[in-house]
Amino acid sequence: MELYLTEKVRLGYRTGELIRMAAFALLGVIIAASVFEVDLEFDLGSVLAELFMLSMGVLCIWKGTLGPVRRQSASRLAHRLAECFFASPEPEISFDQLSRAIGGKNVERKVRHMIQKGYLENISLDTPNKRIMLTAFNKVAQKEQYETVTCPHCGGENVIRPGWASSCQYCGSKLI
Ligand SMILES: [Zn+2]
Repeated sequence: MELYLTEKVRLGYRTGELIRMAAFALLGVIIAASVFEVDLEFDLGSVLAELFMLSMGVLCIWKGTLGPVRRQSASRLAHRLAECFFASPEPEISFDQLSRAIGGKNVERKVRHMIQKGYLENISLDTPNKRIMLTAFNKVAQKEQYETVTCPHCGGENVIRPGWASSCQYCGSKLI
């Protein structure tokens, strides 16, 4: 499964990341709140200055917290997709199959986004034929009888048979 995941994929926040997020959020609130401490004069200059401070505060919160949050949801999606790729008995998987496996529509757009953002590798989109080519398919013994997978929801380790529907023994989430 790691065959399809890049180093960028990481489940769970690191402590440093959480501290950074909290620090940025706090700093953003302090900057934004500074607007309300100054005397409100309604000339253009001070209104612009206040708007500037307000947007800097919002920007600070946004830049400091959204990145790690997005990375988490992208990592979870990348894991689910990689599990599907790994479980595929053939070196290709159709958009329909993938759509059924992970649920939801627009799998093509999701997969393209995952590739562009550097979360998935060793796959290529074959849009005209509505499928994804698994370019690293033959690099490993893909058809091993059993495989240990980490649950994308609770992180529990499960031994499953690739290609067979199974659910997490700890939290009951669908694994494939
Ligand atoms: Zn689980």
